[in-house]
This record gives sequence, C-alpha cells and structure tokens, in this order.
Amino acid sequence: MLYGAIEAGGTKIICAVGNEEGEILDLIRIDTLTPDVTMPKIIEYFKENSVESIGIGTFGPAGVNPEATNYGYILDTPKLPWAHFNFLGTLQEQFSIPMNFDTDVNGAALAEHQWGSAKDVHSCIYITVGTGIGGGAFVNGKLLHGLLHPEMGHILVPRHPDDQFEGVCPFHGNCLEGMAAGPAIEKRWGQKAYLLDPSHPAWEMEAYYLAQGILNYIMILSPERIILGGGVMGQKHLYPMIRKKVQELLKEYIKVPALEIDIDHFIVSPQLGENAGTYGALALALQALNK
Ligand code: ADP
Ligand code: ZN
Repeated sequence: MLYGAIEAGGTKIICAVGNEEGEILDLIRIDTLTPDVTMPKIIEYFKENSVESIGIGTFGPAGVNPEATNYGYILDTPKLPWAHFNFLGTLQEQFSIPMNFDTDVNGAALAEHQWGSAKDVHSCIYITVGTGIGGGAFVNGKLLHGLLHPEMGHILVPRHPDDQFEGVCPFHGNCLEGMAAGPAIEKRWGQKAYLLDPSHPAWEMEAYYLAQGILNYIMILSPERIILGGGVMGQKHLYPMIRKKVQELLKEYIKVPALEIDIDHFIVSPQLGENAGTYGALALALQALNK
C-alpha cells in the first residue's frame, strides 16, 4: 500500500509517495507561490499517484489541534497569501481519505522515532536550526500539541557575555531564533554562515545559544534523545561543542548516563538527513491510519 506525504515549506513544497517501511518511492518539488497556483499542482500529483492516506507536515504557525475550529489552517504567517488558508480542507474537498496535519518538526520527530535516530527510545525532540529555529516533540507516545504547538525557537536565553548583537526576531529581537538561526549568524558576522571557518568565534557563540535552548528543553520535557537538524547543523563541528556546553550548563544536576558518558548518543544528527521533513509527512500519513 502507498501513502502520501506533503512537506510544506516556505520556499518549496515536497509531495511524495512512500510505503510502510519508510521508503520514499516518488517525489516532486513545487515552488511555494500562492495557494491558487500551488494547491492545484499538489492535487494533480495525488490524482496521478493514488494513496491510502495523506500526511502534511507544514511550516507554522498552523492549526494542528483536531478539535479546534482552525484545524488544518495555516495561521498568522508572514507568507501573506498563505495566512488563514485552509490547507487541509482544500485537500479534503478533493480526496476522501484519512489525513493528518501537523508541523514539519513534529512530523520529523515522529519519523526519527519510527525509522531514524530515536528508534530505540520512547521520546525525542527534533530541532531545526535553519532560516528559523523550530522544534517538535514526541513524548508519552504522542506528538506534543497544546494551545497550538510548541514554538521552541522563541524562548528567551541569556546573552553571551561577548555578544552585542540585537537579534533578528521581528517579534522578540533576541529570542533563541533571533540570536542563533542562520540569518542571525549572517547579520552578526556580516558573512554567509557556511563561509565562516570552524575556528571562527561565531561557532562558540552559536553552541552557547543552542546549548542554552537545549538545557531548557531537557529541564521541561525530559526527552530521551535530542536530534539537531537544519542547514546550520551542516557545521558538523557544532555537535561536540554543543554537547560540551550542555554538560557545563547542567552542572551535573541530572545524573543519568545519557547526559554524562553517553551524551554523544543523546544529542545527535537526524538519521533521515535532509529529508527528515518528507519522512515526517509520510509518518504522519501512517499515523492517520494508526499504523
Ligand atoms: P529552511 O530553514 O529555510 O528550511 P535550511 O534548513 O537549509 O532551510 O536553513 C537555511 C539557513 O541555514 C540559512 O540561513 C543558511 O545560511 C544556513 N545554512 C545552510 N547551510 C549551511 C552550512 N553548511 N553552514 C552554515 N549555515 C548553513
Ligand atoms: Zn522570537
């Protein structure tokens, strides 16, 4: 049987077909233009590729609570043509199959738990450090929702002692995203992040901010694994730096092997790589059928 995946991002939307083993068998990329232009292309793809269910992992903010009246909607996004657009409803008008609508990062957390870096544990957090910072959580056998969904990038973190940068979050200035997402690194140092040498002080500062965020996630959600993905984490040297800083910040307060001798297996890269979001949407499609 085949299942449909839609990974909706701010610049492109990936539509794919996969199976229960987590294999992607076909995939197309569509530019995220306006709903009028983009939705018919998505619909056409799934008219040509018949599936049992569809999972949608989307950029946020999005209505992900099935009991809420805004379920399936994109909410107040700066990507204006998509604000208050009924994404799920538009697909449901065309296909009478089970569907599941969640954030891209919640989907990625689910897929990493099902097929990737968190297969062997019961809970995980997936954090993306890219154009923004976002996080999804799989805890107590479920993806975490609530009032809306977690917004793990917009937490407040102490300023690095050598940092005078004001931050780039349009809402909060110096929240974690405002200080540590790709655009913040580039504005602070006046260079493309991927051009900064591994010895540049930018990375010590980046590890400092990300470790502060991770400390908070550990204290609040007590996850058994933390997966760090997104473009900025292409800087592989950040992983050991972040692990070390997390340990320093913990000050041995929580005495469990995962945070002490096993930290290399606690803060990890996504096993599903750059495609974690597409696998995430596939995992959401399976979840729609309780698989
Ligand atoms: P998005 O978050 O838009 O889905 P990405 O996860 O690819 O996309 O993140 C893009 C951001 O990551 C940009 O700010 C870019 O500068 C930064 N980035 C991408 N690749 C690298 C890299 N190898 N090293 C450092 N930063 C990178
Ligand atoms: Zn913010």
